[in-house]
Amino acid sequence: MSNAPKNQEGQAIWSQDKEHFIHPYTDYATFKEEGSHVISEGSGNYLTDADGNRYLDTIAGLWCTNIGHGRTEMADAIAEQVMKMEYCNPFGHSTNEPGSVLAAKLAELAPGDLNHVFYTCGGSTANDAAIRLVHFYNNQRGKPNKKKIISRMDAYHGSTYIAANLTGIHGTKYSFDRIADEWVEHISPANMYRRPVGAEDLSEDAFCDFLVAEFENRILQLGPDNVAAFIAEPVMGAGGVLVAPKGYHRRMRDICTQYDMLYIADEVVTAFGRLGHWFASEAVYDCVPDIIVSAKGISSGYIPLGAAIISSKVYDVISQPQCEGGLLSMGFTYSGHPVACAAALKNIEIIEREKLNENVQALTPYFYELANGLMDISVVGDVRGSHFMMAIEFVTDRRDKVSFPAEADISNRIYQHCLARGMIIRPLGNQIVLSPPLTLTQDDVERLFTVLRESILAAWNDIN
Ligand code: PLP
Repeated sequence: MSNAPKNQEGQAIWSQDKEHFIHPYTDYATFKEEGSHVISEGSGNYLTDADGNRYLDTIAGLWCTNIGHGRTEMADAIAEQVMKMEYCNPFGHSTNEPGSVLAAKLAELAPGDLNHVFYTCGGSTANDAAIRLVHFYNNQRGKPNKKKIISRMDAYHGSTYIAANLTGIHGTKYSFDRIADEWVEHISPANMYRRPVGAEDLSEDAFCDFLVAEFENRILQLGPDNVAAFIAEPVMGAGGVLVAPKGYHRRMRDICTQYDMLYIADEVVTAFGRLGHWFASEAVYDCVPDIIVSAKGISSGYIPLGAAIISSKVYDVISQPQCEGGLLSMGFTYSGHPVACAAALKNIEIIEREKLNENVQALTPYFYELANGLMDISVVGDVRGSHFMMAIEFVTDRRDKVSFPAEADISNRIYQHCLARGMIIRPLGNQIVLSPPLTLTQDDVERLFTVLRESILAAWNDIN
C-alpha cells in the first residue's frame, strides 16, 4: 500500500524522499514501493501529515519529544541563541555560555558525584564517548588490560560501531559486521516474561539471583583484571521495554564496585521525565552509576544533543595531565553546541515549570489500569513497562507464550489500524511500544487505549 499523500505538493516530497533519503532501520523491500508517511506538522501531543490528517503521537517521536511538539518557547530560545552566537570552538580552553550553564545544571540534577559532562551529538556518540573514556581511565590508572565491557542481549545502545557492538538485538548484532568483539561480552537480559533456559519457573527474587550470578561468573571467567564496565539501560527500551526484577540494578552496581568496574547507565530513553524523574537510576532503581549517558529527552528532540555525565572519581583520573602537553584527545566539533545547549536549558525549564515529572507520576496508575484492561483480549500476552515506557506483546497462545508467525505481521497491522483511527504507535516485532510525551492528559490516555483496543481487535480479525 502506497504512503503517497493525496495532494500534489505532498506527493512531490514523498517521491523525493523515496528516491534520495536513506532511512534508518527501514525495510527496503517495502520502502521502495510504499515510500514514507510524510509528517508535516506537530503541535502538543499531536502530529499532522501532508494530507492534513491529525494523529495522537503516543511515542513522542522516538522516545524523545518529552515536552510535546511545536513549542514556540523552544523556537524562541533557539533563535535567540543563533542570533547571539550560533557557534564557537569548544576545544581547548574556549567555551560558550549555554554549554557551561547546562553542564552545571546536569551536575545538579544527576545523582551522586556525577558532576562532569562530556557533550556529544546524540545517544550513540555519547555511549561511544563513554566507552573511550572508560578505556582511557583504565590506561591512566596503569590497567591497560581492563577493557572488556559487559552488556546484555536485547540491549540497544546505538548505531556507531562500538554502540552497535554493545547492542544485543538480534538483527543489529548479526546482520552487520562487528569490530572490537574482544571488548564486548553479552549476558542475559532481565526479561521477566521470556526468561532464559533454566530460569523459566523461578520467582522474581530467584530470577534476580540467577542474573546476578551469571554476571559475576562471567566476570570471574574473563578475569576481573580484564573487565572494565557494565552497561545497562535502567529499563531496556528497544529490546521490548524490559523491567528488571526488583533489586537487580543495585546488585549489579555492587558487583561492579566489588570488581573495580564502572557501571554505565544508558539513560538515553529513561531520563528527563520518562520514568517520572530527571534520571531513573537512583530515583527509581536505587543505583548510583559512575557514568550516565543521556540524549533524546535532554533537548526533547528539538535539536540533537547527547551527554556522558561522569563521576568525580572518573573525572579526577581522566583529567590528570598525561605527559608534558598531553591532551584529552577526543571530542566533536559540536561538543556543547551553544544552540543545542540553549534548547536543553529551555526544555529543562519547561519540565520544571509545568511539573511534567509529577504529571507522569500522577497519570501512571491510570495508564497501567487501562493498559492491563487489554488483557481480556486473548492475543495480548503481556503488558509491561514503567511509567511512560510500555510494551504490549502479542501471542497466539497465552499459556505457552507462542509468538505470531512473522507473516502475520501483527504489530504492523495494529499500527495501520491505529493510523486509520488517528493515532501513531510503534510496531516492534510481536510487540507495540508506547512512550508518549510527558504532557499526555487523562483524556489522551482514554483515547489511546480506546483506539488501541479497536485496532488490536481489527488486526486480529484480519488474520482470522
Ligand atoms: N541508547 C538507547 C537506550 C537508545 O534507545 C538509543 C536510541 O534509541 C540510543 C542509545 C542511541 O541514541 P541515538 O539514536 O541518539 O544515537
